[in-house]
Amino acid sequence: MERALVDEFIELVSIDAESGDEAEIAARVMSKLTEIGLDVEMDDAGSKFGGNAGNVIGRIGEGDPIIVCAHLDRVKPGKGIKPVVDDGIVRSSGDTVLAADDISGVVAILAGLREAKKHKPLPAVEVIFTVSEETRLQGSRYLDYTRLRSKMAYIFDASSPVGTVITSSPTHVGFEAHVAGQAAHAAVNPQDGVSAIRAAAFAISKLPFGWVDDHTTTNVGVLSGGEATNIVCDSARFKGEIRSLVASRASQLANEFTATIVSEAEAHGAKADVMTKVEYSGYTIDPGAPVVVRVVEALGRIGITATFESTMGGSDGNIFNANGISSVVLGTGCSLVHSTREFIHVSELVASARLVESLLTS
Ligand SMILES: [Zn+2]
Repeated sequence: MERALVDEFIELVSIDAESGDEAEIAARVMSKLTEIGLDVEMDDAGSKFGGNAGNVIGRIGEGDPIIVCAHLDRVKPGKGIKPVVDDGIVRSSGDTVLAADDISGVVAILAGLREAKKHKPLPAVEVIFTVSEETRLQGSRYLDYTRLRSKMAYIFDASSPVGTVITSSPTHVGFEAHVAGQAAHAAVNPQDGVSAIRAAAFAISKLPFGWVDDHTTTNVGVLSGGEATNIVCDSARFKGEIRSLVASRASQLANEFTATIVSEAEAHGAKADVMTKVEYSGYTIDPGAPVVVRVVEALGRIGITATFESTMGGSDGNIFNANGISSVVLGTGCSLVHSTREFIHVSELVASARLVESLLTS
């Protein structure tokens, strides 16, 4: 199994599949799922956000299904990946990501299905390979949930060791502020101008950054404005985010941030508009929930003790939970994801595949 897993991992990461460009890899995994015996379709999610492929959905078996899910896309630089296997570790050649996030999940599911099929009959499963997860969870956002029968889902997409079960994830509120001032010549009549940059700077300086408490973070990550040094700038924009494991805390901070930005801008002669948007909702799954109990048992059968964690990141799990499918995210053992130093131990690929098999045959 190990050799085949590594070969399939290399095959799939070698197909270019940055977010929005998943057509080729989607076609490849569709034929693999068909070969395993699943009924396979692609939805039209891609057409809703400009991607060239939709989510891949495969179904097999009778009875109450569970979902196993991973995403097909990867972050940049994710083209021309040339994986190097050395001493039980797979790395990229250093100029791209490895795309173990999330091909580790994809190959674990494919290999786990093949193994599980040897047990007859294969229990009901819905396989979902999403597209454009890395760009604001667009694939899962546009998935048609009325077509799914499962009540629970396992998302193989956490960059932590196999055995990690992510049971809570934050609510993420994005905000964007536009500060309007008054243009003037910066040297001829600066007294007639109101600098939007200066007003924005005062507003930003009043916002907390980083950990606000032990379950909440905030950041301003984008700032733009101005045309030339001899113009008093009349328009500046900045964007930020608030994430909290407590949803009410996120919305409370969003309101406070809006009030602070508006009043600081006014105090400096400018006007501010602030838009806030819930990017995704958080979730907290009870340790006694069936979705947790099943994976703890499945891990136990392959000799791994479950570790519960919360994350401050979002994933398809946030969207699934918001659509009424009780979901946890599982560690696949990849490390240093979203960097050219990303790597994964072959033993973790094997453990993930065993876990898929164990989940499906319980
Ligand atoms: Zn991922």
